[in-house]
Amino acid sequence: MGPYDLIVVGGGIVGSAVAYGAARQGARVAVLDGSDDAVRSSRVNFGLVWVQGKGAKLPPYAAWTRRSAELWPQLARELRACTGVDCCLEQPGGMSFCLTEAELEAAAARARHMHATCGDEDTVILSREETRARVPEIGPRVVGASFNRRDGHVNPLYTLRALQAGLQALGGDYLPGRTVEAIVHAGGSQDGGFTVHAGAEAFRGARLVIAAGHGARALAPLVGLAMPVAPERGEIVVTERLRRFYHYTGDILRQTAEGTMMIGDSHENVGFDTSVSLPVLGGIARRAVAIFPALAEATVVRTWSGLRVLSPDSLPIYDESRVCPGAFAVTCHSGVTLAAAHALALAPLLLSGSLPETFHAFSADRFRVPAA
Ligand SMILES: Cc1cc2nc3c(=O)[nH]c(=O)nc-3n(C[C@H](O)[C@H](O)[C@H](O)COP(=O)(O)OP(=O)(O)OC[C@H]3O[C@@H](n4cnc5c(N)ncnc54)[C@H](O)[C@@H]3O)c2cc1C
Repeated sequence: MGPYDLIVVGGGIVGSAVAYGAARQGARVAVLDGSDDAVRSSRVNFGLVWVQGKGAKLPPYAAWTRRSAELWPQLARELRACTGVDCCLEQPGGMSFCLTEAELEAAAARARHMHATCGDEDTVILSREETRARVPEIGPRVVGASFNRRDGHVNPLYTLRALQAGLQALGGDYLPGRTVEAIVHAGGSQDGGFTVHAGAEAFRGARLVIAAGHGARALAPLVGLAMPVAPERGEIVVTERLRRFYHYTGDILRQTAEGTMMIGDSHENVGFDTSVSLPVLGGIARRAVAIFPALAEATVVRTWSGLRVLSPDSLPIYDESRVCPGAFAVTCHSGVTLAAAHALALAPLLLSGSLPETFHAFSADRFRVPAA
């Protein structure tokens, strides 16, 4: 099938955002997505558009994250107009609550570091009284919080649906059940430069983006790229719907538009195990109750776990192949946060055929071990 201007391998939020962004530029786009038994982070995440603390290790990442947060209202507006789907974007600012003086001092040190290295002036440290003035429901153990006015959240499932529906509304093809097994580069041809094989079908495209989450690790070398990603498990607890009382968002607690409280903050190195662990869930719930004591009365209605897609330093990989020009790698820790940047800023660059120098900091070259 084809030829397409762009073939995106992987239809999670990263691939779908890139594909939607390319289609809105007028490109003919196909997304080849795997089967329903694939590991899919985009269907199990927390839904934050989170800026606070991002880029402490790499200032260009801080700027890129801020840019995405700024572009999010435009993306949400466009998707709603194009598909009728509301991503439920709210950007009320985000709280990271501290339960000990040591946590508060660590948060203050992080904020100072972000200010010094990334010019971040948006993160402020709130005392207990300042926190309580904004969120009266906090419990006695909360000693303060760090707050960033740019943080927000969306409904991540509606967002994924909107991106895929938007792609199709713009004439693109979202093709599920197409697990890519082989990629052939024709070498130098502008039209039909890549032939991508999924089962018995073959798809031709001038450019190729590998955005296949955990599947990218095996696919990237087929076009001379490296995407050394690994899983990190995170678990989430969801309560029944409650009166809307928490109007900010937060790194471990947020209240959805429907009223459920989503609670989650685990980072576990357990390979591809997607079970939930009662001790971990218990720890998550205890911290939430320490922050909002009223949650002790709330009924938990769901728990689940998901696997983050992490590069060795947890930072994004944006790369282009030297041996197969026109092939790109895209993966990141925070695909929801970065969806607007991927759709509105990255996609046009990928269509142009090469990434500007400002993206070199994100190349997987940083993981190469120099020859002795
Ligand atoms: C518990 C948890 C909480 C999180 N919270 C947040 C948050 O609050 N905010 C935030 O920004 N991020 C959050 N994340 C991270 C976010 O979910 C991920 O960054 C994002 O989902 C990654 O999207 P993806 O498209 O790269 O991968 P995926 O969603 O995993 O999608 C990859 C797709 O590629 C397909 N695929 C794989 N191999 C092939 C192949 N060979 N051929 C064709 N298709 C293939 C799969 O079928 C799949 O659909 C969280 C993650 C977890 C686990």
